[in-house]
Amino acid sequence: MKQITLKDLWEDLSSVYRSKTRRSEELFLKARSYLPGGVSYSLRYFEPYPFFVEKVKGAKIWDIDGNEYVDFWMIHGASLLGHEHPAIVEPLREKLTAHFGWTNPWEVKWAEAVTDWFKMDMVRPTNSGTEANMYATRLARAFTSRKKIGKFIGGWHGSYDGLHKGVSNLGQTESLGLDNTLQESIVLLKYNDKEETIERVLQGDLAGVVVEAVMGGAGALPADREFLHLLQDACKRSGTLFILDEVITGFRFYGGAKTYYDLDPDILVTGKAVGGSYFPGAGAILGKREVMELFDQVKHPEPEGRVFHGGTYTGNTLTMRAGYYLISYLKENRGLFDELFEKGKYLKELLRKAFEKFGKRVAITGLGSMIGFHLLREELELNNLRPEEIITKRDNEVMKIVH
Ligand code: PLP
Repeated sequence: MKQITLKDLWEDLSSVYRSKTRRSEELFLKARSYLPGGVSYSLRYFEPYPFFVEKVKGAKIWDIDGNEYVDFWMIHGASLLGHEHPAIVEPLREKLTAHFGWTNPWEVKWAEAVTDWFKMDMVRPTNSGTEANMYATRLARAFTSRKKIGKFIGGWHGSYDGLHKGVSNLGQTESLGLDNTLQESIVLLKYNDKEETIERVLQGDLAGVVVEAVMGGAGALPADREFLHLLQDACKRSGTLFILDEVITGFRFYGGAKTYYDLDPDILVTGKAVGGSYFPGAGAILGKREVMELFDQVKHPEPEGRVFHGGTYTGNTLTMRAGYYLISYLKENRGLFDELFEKGKYLKELLRKAFEKFGKRVAITGLGSMIGFHLLREELELNNLRPEEIITKRDNEVMKIVH
């Protein structure tokens, strides 16, 4: 029997894909004239070209050639209820427009719901997770009068210059044009590495450390519970703000990963689902009262005494309402989270069996409904996973085909 090579497999898959997505191919060629790389976000490109989505509903999406797919990408991980869930969409139908630029009652309702969800003192809305992280670093600098910010190798906190380092292109720059001063203020730390990380934080020169309890971008890597608590403790002892990035985890766990891991962050950053999952302008920065009050223009009327935050679309009524409806729904349906954990386990088992058949070395990672898989060239210890180890051991050729 003829042995199928990876190259054969790739060619077969590409030719089936091309024959089923002719209209997408045509549109992609046109898109390349107007949108750099033919897409609105380079991450959404894959070879030979991405399909263009026309319709979404629940767990399914349909492209412009009429092909149906199950969506595991789910709005970059923003949605845990699927697309267009009626609990959010139906009440919005009453009024599908938003108003912008004025304070409004919905931002207060939303703020009360969000602070209660995370059990944090105060919140301000932002336009994205990137923006929320940017403000978190600004707030940490202002609060501590220190410059450096710690982040973990492999951690993705958005494309802000002050955090966009050591994500996937280890040892190299992640982008042209990044501001050197901000880049140099980033101190890269090793995820799940208790000794080195704690020692570095205890040096006491970091304004804050930004961490995800389950790394999303690195491929769903959960933190070791003890590691997170030791890190939090080292932050407290050294006057460093402990910043939990919950842009993805915030609504994958009841009350966020903060609740799941029993953490007490000084600042908590979130995004995506905090705006109901289906609307832009979704992000938030939450924190302890004494930290968040640095945004307070009543307490600190002079600009030099406070931290600036805000934008035209922050707190818009549509996103605020959608976020409020989602949180209300989740509170009324707490059992959903047990179901998500069960489904996560089931999916991991299916993946494990599928890869076993394929005869490939694989690490299936994740917690609850956050799941990743990493095809490997070398064995990997599954406890205390470190992104830098996965990145160097990954079988990139096969990953390209399977993704
Ligand atoms: N932080 C984390 C953990 C994320 O996963 C993301 C996006 O995926 C961001 C920040 C950036 O959020 P946004 O894409 O809304 O700017």
